[in-house]
Amino acid sequence: MKLILMGLPGAGKGTQAERIVEEFHIPHISTGDMFRAAIKEGTELGLKAKSFMDQGQLVPDEVTIGIVRERLGKDDCKKGFLLDGFPRTVAQAEALEQMLSDLQRTLDYVIHIHVDQSLLMERLTGRRICKECGATYHLVFNPPTQEGICDKCGGELYQRHDDNAETVGNRLEVNTKQMEPLLNFYDQKGYLRTINGEQDIHDVFADINQVLGGLSK
Ligand code: AMP
Repeated sequence: MKLILMGLPGAGKGTQAERIVEEFHIPHISTGDMFRAAIKEGTELGLKAKSFMDQGQLVPDEVTIGIVRERLGKDDCKKGFLLDGFPRTVAQAEALEQMLSDLQRTLDYVIHIHVDQSLLMERLTGRRICKECGATYHLVFNPPTQEGICDKCGGELYQRHDDNAETVGNRLEVNTKQMEPLLNFYDQKGYLRTINGEQDIHDVFADINQVLGGLSK
């Protein structure tokens, strides 16, 4: 099963990615995670990626395409994979087509988890995190029993500095602009499947499962 997962920040991509790779036993290939690991290990790739990531910019296509090509060539990707955070540009999408054709493989689906922007704004700005244990809450969807206090450890809850309305608005706008040409690209090729991400987590996964149900595990 060869999949791409797409969705704006706050759409629940991380949660669904976890479930998909567990259910279908395929590797989760997140370019963001690969870059973060490379930075932590202090590799040449990490050095290249860091300056771009620190400025909130995309890492250049040739670097990103190179690491994905190497990763997809590994044995564990023979039975499939879930790409997350890649492709982010049409040039990356075209390079992916070429890579897969070189490996004599084709994509199965591009799963797009769709959530309306106003709801994403509410989801992201309402997020609160425990200073002590890192547990996450939401003022509306998952509030702590006592305001401002962690249920698990009694620690103080805070809002991440990039979860304020202005920064979240910018992030959503930039990400929407990046994602739109890719959605068109994959729609035209017939790969795109849009899932309603405004439902309960289990129902979102059930819908994804329904799309993937026809494919062998
Ligand atoms: P993410 O964890 O997917 O939000 O990615 C974190 C950062 O890694 C991004 O802001 C980019 O700087 C970089 N990055 C991740 N994936 C890509 C990609 N496909 N193309 C370019 N840069 C990427």
